[in-house]
Amino acid sequence: MAYQTVNPFTNQLIKEYPTHSDADVEAALKKADALYHSAWAKGDIDQRLPVLHKLADLLDTQNEELAKIASREMGKLIEQSRAEVKLCAQIARYYADHAKDFLAPVKYDSELGDAWVEHHPIGVLMAVEPWNFPYYQLMRVLAPNLAAGNPIIVKHASIVPHCAETFEHLVREAGAPDGAYTNLFISSDQVAAIIDDDRVQGVALTGSEKAGGIVAAQAAKKLKKATLELGGNDVFVVLDDSDLEKAVKVGVQARLQNAGQVCTAAKRFIIHVKVADAFLSKFTDAFREVKLGDPLDESTTLGPLSSKDAVDTLTKQVDEAVKNGAKVHVGGKPVEHQGNFFEPTILTHISRNNPAYFEEFFGPVAQVYVVKDDDEIVKLANDSHYGLGGAIFSQNIERAKRLASRIETGMVYINSLTDTAAELPFGGVKRSGFGRELSDLGIKEFVNQKLVVVSHQ
Ligand code: NAP
Repeated sequence: MAYQTVNPFTNQLIKEYPTHSDADVEAALKKADALYHSAWAKGDIDQRLPVLHKLADLLDTQNEELAKIASREMGKLIEQSRAEVKLCAQIARYYADHAKDFLAPVKYDSELGDAWVEHHPIGVLMAVEPWNFPYYQLMRVLAPNLAAGNPIIVKHASIVPHCAETFEHLVREAGAPDGAYTNLFISSDQVAAIIDDDRVQGVALTGSEKAGGIVAAQAAKKLKKATLELGGNDVFVVLDDSDLEKAVKVGVQARLQNAGQVCTAAKRFIIHVKVADAFLSKFTDAFREVKLGDPLDESTTLGPLSSKDAVDTLTKQVDEAVKNGAKVHVGGKPVEHQGNFFEPTILTHISRNNPAYFEEFFGPVAQVYVVKDDDEIVKLANDSHYGLGGAIFSQNIERAKRLASRIETGMVYINSLTDTAAELPFGGVKRSGFGRELSDLGIKEFVNQKLVVVSHQ
């Protein structure tokens, strides 16, 4: 596996990164394990939290530089890269401020005696992360686990080595000790060997269903805990009583943000028949107005996909959808231009036997379905292998809340796109994975919730 920075706007190779050997892996494991057994990891949380405060400050002061690195490496619009770096600082600061409360002992009333649950680190974790949010994905694992005292070894996606290396340097600069966070440029086989190693106690993976299945099986074989944040096929529901202008505006953003490469992007637009024509017409106009271009140019509204492979995969998926009866309402093909661009695309008339019905399209391709009532919305929304997020637009909040409760996903937002914040749990059900990141729930995934009882007898 080659770790390379290739600019997705020009397809020029910028830099190739040497991979780490098995001896490097062993050295990383040794350091991480030694740290886990040290007073830093097992002792008072107050020694660890200043690292997160410092990291948050570094991210804020270096925001512009870090944003440019991400935009050049994976094509995210510069404004969105800046927002990602800002969010990372917020997550670091959130755990610096709240981890102590989250990990404080919790008392339990019991006839057996004075009882409480303490929270202890469990050991070295292996994290496998994707390129689409090249800093945020790392921070979601780092911040809670650094606070908890779990050392982390990371395999980042092979197309974002510059972000991977930069993030590791920042964590060191913030004062993290040797072994707290180690980035390795390694193969899948080396990841498997790390998961197999007795010094490792857990695995966190964000990525595709395929990688999740493989890595979770490796963890299960050794009875190690895993959290999986995988793909999604989220619905964006527009009810007949919604604010249509707002639904269109947010819908465009929900599908095209990060060039459509977001796990919680709106992928299936489910529109009430009474507003379907009006929605589709405004939505199409907005897709036509999109300005493709250099992600570093502030006026660009749609950047390139992350790689040529991504364009090829999306092209095949759209062609296959059309072969199976889908209609291309707008767009539908790659752009004849340098860089990895795909036209903003809307597909309609997708039947249940079309492969597109169940697939995740990781790019600027929206599927539109028209429905007649709320029951049909629920049926269509839940007829999915995935269960990550979802959005409902309605001015009748009670109606939207009832629908939200019936949709089988880990997250539902009303009158907003599916969003994320340090204080809110993030994760899904079904093939979108299991476990939660962020918030108080995320920090409890890899801690020993240890019961201690002082008997009354
Ligand atoms: P991917 O191919 O699964 O890659 C993700 C990471 O897994 C990369 O670091 C990749 O390394 C690694 N990987 C792949 N196969 C592996 C194996 N057999 N063993 C160990 N590591 C392996 O995912 P992607 O296509 O780049 O990312 C997009 C997917 O991630 C989408 O499905 C998206 O919905 C999902 N995602 C989910 C969330 C969430 O929070 N639920 C967030 C973001 C993205 P290489 O780069 O070296 O192949």
